Amino acid sequence: MKKVGIIRCQQTEDLCPGTTDLMMAAAGKGGFEAFGACQVVGVVSCGGCPGKRAVARAQMLRDRGAEVVALASCITKGTPIDFPCPNKAMMLRAIRAKLGEDFPVMDHTH
Ligand code: SF4
Repeated sequence: MKKVGIIRCQQTEDLCPGTTDLMMAAAGKGGFEAFGACQVVGVVSCGGCPGKRAVARAQMLRDRGAEVVALASCITKGTPIDFPCPNKAMMLRAIRAKLGEDFPVMDHTH
């Protein structure tokens, strides 16, 4: 079972407890389909706008055992209010550069 760390949008913490992310990871559905059922080893926020803290937080998740890091759909798809993060592409690029090409970074959770 893959160990996954999830990074979410800090701005949506008031609106969403991440229930669907956790359900999808446990079931190996949605963005997790390629990995099957996953064990969530940590859930952190991006650290707030503009999202630069997400890079160090992704590294921290890996250091704590994550074999996959996932940006939650609140960041990349804008769920649950249809308002994607304007910095999602930069965040993804910086995290991928930090963790290396071979380390899987998912761009959505469901
Ligand atoms: S940087 Fe993006 S993901 Fe982070 S709080 Fe701001 S809008 Fe949300």
